[in-house]
Amino acid sequence: MGKVTGFLEYQRLQEASEDKESRKKHYREFILHLSDDEAKVQGARCMDCGIPFCMSGCPVDNIIPDFNDLVYRQDWKAAIQSLHSTNNFPEFTGRVCPAPCEEACTLRINDDAVGIKSIEHAIIDKAWEEGWVGPQPPSHKTGKRVAVVGSGPAGLACAQQLARAGHGVVVFEKNDRVGGLLRYGIPDFKMEKWLVDRRLGQMEAEGVEFRVNHVVGQAPVGAGNKQAKPVSPKKLLAEFDAVVLSGGAELPRDLPVSGRELDGIHFAMDFLPLQNRRVAGDKNVEDLWASGKHVVVIGGGDTGSDCVGTSNRHGAASVTQFELLPMPPDLDRNPVWPYWPQRLRTSSSHEEGAERDWSIGTKEFIGEDGKIKAIKAVRLEWKDGKMSELPGSEFVLPADLVLLAMGFVSPVQAVLDAFGVEKDPRGNAKATTDGEACYLTSVPKVFAAGDMRRGQSLVVWAIREGRQCARSVDEFLMGFSELPR
Ligand SMILES: Cc1cc2nc3c(=O)[nH]c(=O)nc-3n(C[C@H](O)[C@H](O)[C@H](O)COP(=O)(O)OP(=O)(O)OC[C@H]3O[C@@H](n4cnc5c(N)ncnc54)[C@H](O)[C@@H]3O)c2cc1C
Ligand code: SF4
Repeated sequence: MGKVTGFLEYQRLQEASEDKESRKKHYREFILHLSDDEAKVQGARCMDCGIPFCMSGCPVDNIIPDFNDLVYRQDWKAAIQSLHSTNNFPEFTGRVCPAPCEEACTLRINDDAVGIKSIEHAIIDKAWEEGWVGPQPPSHKTGKRVAVVGSGPAGLACAQQLARAGHGVVVFEKNDRVGGLLRYGIPDFKMEKWLVDRRLGQMEAEGVEFRVNHVVGQAPVGAGNKQAKPVSPKKLLAEFDAVVLSGGAELPRDLPVSGRELDGIHFAMDFLPLQNRRVAGDKNVEDLWASGKHVVVIGGGDTGSDCVGTSNRHGAASVTQFELLPMPPDLDRNPVWPYWPQRLRTSSSHEEGAERDWSIGTKEFIGEDGKIKAIKAVRLEWKDGKMSELPGSEFVLPADLVLLAMGFVSPVQAVLDAFGVEKDPRGNAKATTDGEACYLTSVPKVFAAGDMRRGQSLVVWAIREGRQCARSVDEFLMGFSELPR
């Protein structure tokens, strides 16, 4: 354990960040990891609970009390070994995870949680800086070959685990760059993309092959990569000993009200990746900007918040975010500890400036000459989980750009249909996560993991599923597996 009285003596410390006016002028990350001394003090706050509830909140089962203690003792090398034993990519989760572990931390009952995410961030950044993270190529090759379809965090974690177990792994990605939503969803100001490239370098050195611009079993959809070369499921099944489907949940939820066809109404994912491309230095990126516009973001989650941050960086005239549900309470403790509470979450993008409005229903998009000009909306009343419109509460708000960020319905069905994979009632690839043959779909030797299996979720869940799926594939191929569960 860190310091016996640490949690009584020390306060939780937020990571330092650049001032909100100056950070809005660029797309770089603006949160600094803790210094060694700061991390030591934060590690000292951990009580090393008999039952570490933090771990039950962490989807990858990070061994949190251990690395808190190791950082308190300044044994950073052992800390990164502990962290990497459960999580392939702590530099991603240390930046973008909503940290369910912290809501589950025992201190959260009546105090501020241990700053677990900030400690994770400090450990992994230091480990890379010190040169402690290198390729771990397998000592032997099995001669088996696995195709991974989709290069988001689920596909990457799965590919890395399988390559380390000695299998020949090829990752097929329909986009022109690897990374899934880490690359073309999450903005650079939350997570810079050289972090993804650095991991890819490690994975290539471990033997993983990446084939970008290859779309498996479907034609590219929406703003997808029209240049992608089609790859048939039949070919993959013939050439590989196992196939992992980790193509994410890319079908966005639409808002089919009157005026939906107007120019200037876009899905968030037709807007956000364009900025990631510009930051990456791409030329001829489609001209869709929020600059000088009255932007209305519909949907109150992470994706909506990313639209807010990006619109402010473009120089929008105003940014408003609508949410259908009522405003959750602004809690400073967790009343449903150790579970995940519904509470007001104010992201760094919200802090940079946005009008947030709750219990709002969109009635109509109002246009002029085919272009969006305003939104007609109404206030809602929620009773016993049911909503009704508040009479006389309709209002009209000017809007030149509307971004739909209401979540994702399911994976694109075409790829699942092309493999003939059975689906669950929500249209996800059906596969269990326990018992024998977990992550295996209804089609022999075809596995599924990440958002494609569980539906729209989080980076940390994708990493967990990728790791666990890798173990299941390894067992399937070899009859046993030494990969962690
Ligand atoms: C804008 C946005 C912001 C988010 N922010 C956060 C956050 O801050 N924190 C967090 O924890 N989570 C966040 N999420 C959720 C998180 O990014 C996802 O849950 C996670 O990336 C899912 O990982 P995945 O590997 O299952 O799929 P994805 O990351 O979606 O990757 C799937 C990949 O498969 C490829 N693909 C799909 N079909 C095919 C095919 N047929 N052939 C070849 N390739 C294919 C896709 O092009 C894509 O690259 C965010 C999501 C969005 C949309
Ligand atoms: S629940 Fe909190 S205090 Fe207890 S071991 Fe985990 S991080 Fe430390």
